[in-house]
Amino acid sequence: MTIHQNLIAGEWVGSTGSENVNPSDTNDIVGLYAQATADDVSQAIAAAKAAFPAWSRSGILERHAILKKTADEILARKQELGTLLSREEGKTLAEGIGEVTRAAQIFDFFAGETLRLAGEVLPSARPGIGVEITREPLGVIGIITPWNFPIAIPAWKIAPALCYGNTVVFKPAELVPGCSWAIVDILHRAGLPKGVLNLVMGPGSVVGQTMLDSPDIAGITFTGSTGTGKRVAAASIEHNRKFQLEMGGKNPMIVLDDADLGVAVEAAANSGFFSTGQRCTASSRLIVTEGIHDKFVDALTERMKSIQVGHALRPETHIGPVVDVRQLKQDTDYIEIGVKEGAKLAFGGERLERDTPGFFLQPTLFTEATNQMRISREEIFGPVVSLIRVKDYDEALAMANDTPFGLSAGIATTSLKYATHFKRNSEAGMVMVNLPTAGVDFHVPFGGRKASSFGSREQGKYAAEFFTVVKTAYTQA
Ligand code: NDP
Repeated sequence: MTIHQNLIAGEWVGSTGSENVNPSDTNDIVGLYAQATADDVSQAIAAAKAAFPAWSRSGILERHAILKKTADEILARKQELGTLLSREEGKTLAEGIGEVTRAAQIFDFFAGETLRLAGEVLPSARPGIGVEITREPLGVIGIITPWNFPIAIPAWKIAPALCYGNTVVFKPAELVPGCSWAIVDILHRAGLPKGVLNLVMGPGSVVGQTMLDSPDIAGITFTGSTGTGKRVAAASIEHNRKFQLEMGGKNPMIVLDDADLGVAVEAAANSGFFSTGQRCTASSRLIVTEGIHDKFVDALTERMKSIQVGHALRPETHIGPVVDVRQLKQDTDYIEIGVKEGAKLAFGGERLERDTPGFFLQPTLFTEATNQMRISREEIFGPVVSLIRVKDYDEALAMANDTPFGLSAGIATTSLKYATHFKRNSEAGMVMVNLPTAGVDFHVPFGGRKASSFGSREQGKYAAEFFTVVKTAYTQA
């Protein structure tokens, strides 16, 4: 098997590789991917630093052309890259192709943004003086990504970093290097100058940590767990460096008595279980008012019976496997915790055997849960949902907000009054009415509050907040 190498200073390097294993079938090795050493990472950072002056002053047409070409190639190869994504991460093929299409849209959006860079010209408070406000690139950006969106998250960090004139050192999650390698290869062939984008694959404890410890990285954008996010924050403060964190969630979805039952069940099933519940925006807490509670539980469990769990590449599969054995253990440990805490296991909870060795788990629903149980407070990151019964909207809203997290929150209701009140009073960064809590657009801000996020929003034109620094210049004519 050939080794997919790291890209450092425009050269593909690395002679030993680690196996990328398919979670639907552990006999299927997706490929071998190089492991960067701390020394490789230091060389990548030095290359990005050396490339910054020229790239930050490069023409907008050059940047536009590279990003556009990348978008076009990703889209043209969506079937192949979607298959790669499903093989390495375990999302269904439809979800994999959807995510690849999203990555192409993101590169296309930021190709367009290169042509829309603008500042402001204002009169000074002092007559005869002009004021210009411009945005400049930060410098070397460190990008650290998680395993659950192997192509979309790298795309929504790499595309704006390059668009605004930064250079990049990129470390993907060790579990899913395949899609990351593919987009770096596409960008490299699209004509990026040497050192502008460097790929360093390997474990977070070596590769990520060397990035955190470097004084030459001007900004780190991170998506992953709250624990690693705190390390990124502490190291970045130490180095006086800008940082942006997207972390976990325990996203509530309220179902009110007046909800359309079909809409509510579909939104809950989609955001609780699709993508195997491995989305930071998944609804893992359903908060349901008394009048609809029993009907909703019956309809949701009926819906869950029709969900097919299996090999991600099979057309009949609705939910693929859990990403690896460690995550599977975390999910089943939480299922045991839920039972011990006294919640009622209404559906699922069992590991499933299929004709290939993989990490298959039934979608799982706990009813009669309370908001104080660990299964309702801690992020499980699997297809495991707790359902809590409440008396009315006021209690539901208080419970939805009673969480350390604040990423996404939903409500199913036909009442304009409650929908409007919820949009205003939810303590989440993203609010959904009659929609799953997961599933967002690429051209508008993404991010949360409290322990879910830190720093400015990602995506859309709001990405400029992180990837640029504002300069105010005064001129006396
Ligand atoms: P981790 O925090 O374990 O890993 C995220 C990234 O950080 C990986 O690339 C990892 O490398 C790297 N890393 C690990 N240790 C260090 C270190 N010491 N220094 C620097 N980097 C390090 O999260 P997971 O990959 O397990 O992702 C799942 C988590 O991500 C969930 O909690 C989920 O909620 C959250 N998430 C949040 C999203 C959001 O936008 N809010 C979106 C998607 C996920 P390696 O893989 O090599 O260990």
